[in-house]
Amino acid sequence: MEPDPLGQPASAFRRVAPVLAEELEARGLRTVRDLLLHRPSRYEDRRALLGAGEAQVGARVALLAEVRRPRKGRLRRGGGTLSCQLVDATGQLGAVWFHVRPWQLRELEAGRRCFFTGTVKASKAGGRVLFNPEYEPLEEEAPSAASLHFGRVVPLYPGTAHPRALRSLIGALIEAVLPSLDDPLPEALRAEHALLPLAEAVRGLHFPSGATPEQLERLDTEAHRRLAFDELLWLSLGMARRRRVARRRPGFAFRAGEGELARAIAGLPFTPTGAQRRALGEIAADLCSGEPMQRLLEGDVGSGKTAVAAIALRLAVESGFQGALMAPTELLAVQHERTLRRLLEPAGVPVRLVTSSAGGAKAARAAFEGGAPGVAVGTQALLQESLPFGTLALAVIDEQHRFGVEDRLRLSAKGRAPHVLLMSATPIPRTLAIALRGDLDVSVLDELPPGREPVETRVFSGAARAKALDALRAEVGAGRQAYVVYPLIEESEKIDLAHATGGASRLAAQLPEARIALVHGRMPAAERERIMAAFRDGAVDVLVATTVVEVGVDVPNATLMIVSQAERFGLSQLHQLRGRVGRGPHPSRCFLLPRGPLSRDARRRLSALARSHDGFAIARMDLEIRGPGEVLGRRQSGLPELSFADPVRQPKLLEAARALAFDLVARDPELQSAGARRLVEGLRRLFGDRTSLAAVA
Ligand code: ADP
Ligand code: MG
Repeated sequence: MEPDPLGQPASAFRRVAPVLAEELEARGLRTVRDLLLHRPSRYEDRRALLGAGEAQVGARVALLAEVRRPRKGRLRRGGGTLSCQLVDATGQLGAVWFHVRPWQLRELEAGRRCFFTGTVKASKAGGRVLFNPEYEPLEEEAPSAASLHFGRVVPLYPGTAHPRALRSLIGALIEAVLPSLDDPLPEALRAEHALLPLAEAVRGLHFPSGATPEQLERLDTEAHRRLAFDELLWLSLGMARRRRVARRRPGFAFRAGEGELARAIAGLPFTPTGAQRRALGEIAADLCSGEPMQRLLEGDVGSGKTAVAAIALRLAVESGFQGALMAPTELLAVQHERTLRRLLEPAGVPVRLVTSSAGGAKAARAAFEGGAPGVAVGTQALLQESLPFGTLALAVIDEQHRFGVEDRLRLSAKGRAPHVLLMSATPIPRTLAIALRGDLDVSVLDELPPGREPVETRVFSGAARAKALDALRAEVGAGRQAYVVYPLIEESEKIDLAHATGGASRLAAQLPEARIALVHGRMPAAERERIMAAFRDGAVDVLVATTVVEVGVDVPNATLMIVSQAERFGLSQLHQLRGRVGRGPHPSRCFLLPRGPLSRDARRRLSALARSHDGFAIARMDLEIRGPGEVLGRRQSGLPELSFADPVRQPKLLEAARALAFDLVARDPELQSAGARRLVEGLRRLFGDRTSLAAVA
């Protein structure tokens, strides 16, 4: 194979000025590929040259002019200035540079002709002036038409101190490398999806021609679209391969036909919703297929995911197998165990809790080692270690936000592969679910059980905050319980903790009759679980907490959720928090207390949340506002770092790339054909070590 120019350092093709090299190194822009795929943060149209005499205050201008009467000055705090007049046939315009470097003084001597761009400001003396305009001296020997920097639409890159040098370097790399760059997509495929050739897309990314101002403004040109497609294709190929690998081993065939399913459903203490029925139908079909299930069950908070899991587990046991339900914390495991007992023990399905206490784990393990059918409930960590896998036929993972936790399970198991059902708490749009976990099938619970009263949600700021305290006093007086939640993020952890602690002691003074406890994520886990358990058991009236309560505690007697500094939470998070109340027979409320005066945007967001109770709609709003990385937590979610593609905004492009990838893998599972190898190799060169996309091979 010929050496890959994309993988080489830029300096292999072009001298890189030391200051620029230093900056690029610091920002991780090392190879030709890094630079060629470095996305401009915006573009500037420098095609239309304005006359110096015509430029109005406030206008962004590009002009070709002569430097006249340059004058050096000094800033009070140190550093030199240079002021001059820019003169052309139409008149003149002032220009001032601060902190000028010696080489700039040489470039801007009297009589030099340069291109200038900047925004025209009004000077103190009433004239028009450009401050720190970008400029390029017009060299005698370099005709202006060839300029990378003027007379065209130019790229502006984020956060560089050397815009011109970087632009020149990328321009030079484009000339040096593009002619020999292979396009991973064959002509026919490009035609089918109306995609530019790769070389044209890379050139167009930096030096667009033919794009409309709107496309440039949205960073959504044909060049972006081609690169987005390649990214999504690379992502989807990884998913298609993962899916294949996950299903390569044989699975357990359950007896889960219509009769068995109907009987199991009839055992529930309530009538399932239509959505639960649909999901159960999909799950049961997987469970009898003999292929290991890999399914994501998505649903709004309170949509009844646990009941769906319970039926699946019952089908496992009635087919003569073992099942497990894995929770993120021990407290949640205990809670799940109670629920499953209630739902399953009347049907004679044994449910056992596996706790970290020595005796319990041993007993549970012993029971499972005998192969007796039953359901084990415990934390992911504990169960993955202590269950004798190989007999485990169904693993349900209540994973909240985290994606990818089942990988270890899949790897550690030998023999037949267990069916896996992941339950996700953030109801994300299907397209995003596919982008994240396109290797999984998705079932959606988009319906709440009947009779749920929406949690009344209100925003209280300023003096109105006192109402929250009154309500708190009233609820506690009536024997109800309440949460008071504070934000806690790493960057401001100390201050945040102080706020929560201070809040708890203020409350203790204001409500001496209430039993108040503080719980936060920086406590030892055992301590935290003890307090949460006390709250669950009614021994604590008001739980003051940092966001740890977000993860699924179920306390039906809790009727009031107060969120302090609510503007700092994402909408999905607030919706999750709100879902902690309204779980019992009593009407419930959620009060959002912003810390200070709200911006218009923040007020709009909070009142949108107060109006809507649809978790999917709220997640969509949140994604629009904050983007998937923020909403799902990039590190936790396994969310790939996409530079060009936005699966939420480009569902069609994702669908097309996904269909292509799955089709390729279906026809050529190991991607061995010459065409497939060329495609994979080409995409790997573009994205392979640059993103965290799932490994293809
Ligand atoms: P999720 O985990 O999806 O947030 P849960 O499984 O905890 O929701 O269910 C919330 C509550 O609704 C539980 O108390 C459960 O017993 C109840 N529930 C679930 N499905 C139904 C149904 N079809 N009808 C009535 N109540 C239901
Ligand atoms: Mg749940």
